[in-house]
Amino acid sequence: MSKSFYVKSIGSQVVITRKSGLKNMRLSVHPKKGVTVSLPMMLSYKAALFFIDKKQEWIKKKLKEIDKHKHNYVNNIIENGFKTHNRSLRLFFDTEDRCIGNIEEEFVNMHFPILWDIKKFETQEIIREFLKKVLVLEAKEYIPQRVKTLALKHNLRYKDIRIGSAKTRWGTCRQDNRLTFSCYLMLMKDELIDYIILHELTHIIHKNHSKDFYNMLNKLCDGQHKRLNAEVKNFKTPLTSKYQRA
Ligand SMILES: [Zn+2]
Repeated sequence: MSKSFYVKSIGSQVVITRKSGLKNMRLSVHPKKGVTVSLPMMLSYKAALFFIDKKQEWIKKKLKEIDKHKHNYVNNIIENGFKTHNRSLRLFFDTEDRCIGNIEEEFVNMHFPILWDIKKFETQEIIREFLKKVLVLEAKEYIPQRVKTLALKHNLRYKDIRIGSAKTRWGTCRQDNRLTFSCYLMLMKDELIDYIILHELTHIIHKNHSKDFYNMLNKLCDGQHKRLNAEVKNFKTPLTSKYQRA
């Protein structure tokens, strides 16, 4: 159960959520979620508000940092011509006062008001959000059929496939062999997408990262595991990396 309070001393809304199994209060300040407190069942909202009051200096400092961060220009910007798996981004700054996007066969088109600055955090956030939708669409089209092909080739059986939008994990294989892949995979070249798929398919046999796991994975990717693994580790995209300060 969640309740939202406006706390005058920090000048911000706070969301307090009761959670069972929690021993201590947890306070966090997040760029998108704002100020949140997880509260053990046995404690009252009043206790949470008292806690917030005690921590107000720390919270205010965090909120200030986030605010400063948001108004900074972004170094690592997504620009015209940015490529997804199947499409190329086209940005238009025109006289109409709106932000809209549409998806064509080969292009992602986005329109912004003429005075908007491409380098601003807000503009980049809108581009990022829209591109995420495009990537999910492309991933749903591409990944299941590719997994099917590779699984058949190596005689491996999985339960089903889900497409998510995790930014820290490319894929997972559950105990029951349900596979999940991140839509951000669609920013990689095909060879690396295959490598991630093979990694998850190997988990059907080995549910850990043991020596046997890597031996099998290396076989499935024609002895290229070391090189491909290094390429995945070095892979960077402005869509998932942290914003750089100007
Ligand atoms: Zn793994």
